[in-house]
Amino acid sequence: MTPDKSPSADPAQEKPSHSPTQAASADPSAPGPTTSRRGFLKAGGALSMSSLMGTAALMTQSDDAAAATEWAEHFQKNYRLMTDAEKAEARTRLERRYSSEYGKKVTVDTTGPQPGVLMGYALNIRKCIGCRRCVHACVEENNQSRGTRPGEKIEWIQVLRMERGEFAKDKMNQGYPEGLGIQVGGNAYTPAGQVLEGQYRYEPEAVPEKDATYMPIACMQCEKPPCVKVCPVRTTYREADGPVVIDYNWCIGCRMCMGACPYWARRINLTTPVLPKEEMNPVTHYLGNRPRMRGVVEKCHWCLQRSRQGRYPACVEVCPVGARKFGNLLDPESEVSKILERKNVFRLKAELNTFPKFFYFYD
Ligand code: SF4
Ligand code: SF4
Repeated sequence: MTPDKSPSADPAQEKPSHSPTQAASADPSAPGPTTSRRGFLKAGGALSMSSLMGTAALMTQSDDAAAATEWAEHFQKNYRLMTDAEKAEARTRLERRYSSEYGKKVTVDTTGPQPGVLMGYALNIRKCIGCRRCVHACVEENNQSRGTRPGEKIEWIQVLRMERGEFAKDKMNQGYPEGLGIQVGGNAYTPAGQVLEGQYRYEPEAVPEKDATYMPIACMQCEKPPCVKVCPVRTTYREADGPVVIDYNWCIGCRMCMGACPYWARRINLTTPVLPKEEMNPVTHYLGNRPRMRGVVEKCHWCLQRSRQGRYPACVEVCPVGARKFGNLLDPESEVSKILERKNVFRLKAELNTFPKFFYFYD
């Protein structure tokens, strides 16, 4: 794909590529891009723009699906600026390309937000048993990279395992250097009460484990998302029905959003994603689980390919204890609305005024 090392601040002026310098150097053995968009345009300086566009139109009709897609992406607008016709063209082109690459019929949905819908999520923190089935179901559903080398394994959900205990006043000094007088969680010399730092990527032999409590986290789909504020190319944004999405073709992999996210929810593909053909989920959404490229950021989007078709996200469906609930916050009769009305509810880092649409609750 197209390497372009100096991102433009104005997406309307120039579309950056998705292959940043650091990403390219992370995996030198991976097949790299062949033509830079900027170089291509410079080389084509002698040609008129109309002849370039004409050539592009011809290339998109090419029988070589990968070449046609790469060529067309040189001219592709930010998804938010595309007309319906342009979206349809991009969809057809990608379906051809992915079907050819993965050897099966791949669909790329472009269904947009439905009026009157604002998606919300609720998780019963007392019910979670730490089995991590949600993590694995998410990886399978959303075509995440599953390699074994550093950087190749990507998981959007994390289930934090924490020591069960009591954060009590009379235990404030236990396990800490004499006279410190303050409980500092993970810095304790010996465990005393609740340790605030969790473990993730553990593989439990049996769950729930004795003396452990679990805290699943992923993207909180903030109403005021800090990641959106910092993105220099405006490729990440909040959709009208709630989820914060990323147009992968426009992401330049600068990782500003990763630094801004207070929930550690974004991941970057530093290597060419490892997605075996036989494991690829062919039912995709343009802003959701379609295959990503090296050097772009990705994260949970509440399974847009499912939720916009009236289905639950994969993690909701797989949870064996029914800890996960999902629905329309604008419908007072939805399960998630009733939970907000009747249960003890809290949001992570509420003091940051990010207004997550992911709620934790307990009975
Ligand atoms: S599948 Fe359910 S119980 Fe298992 S870790 Fe995820 S939220 Fe917890
Ligand atoms: S890495 Fe994040 S901030 Fe940078 S372009 Fe991509 S989405 Fe935007």
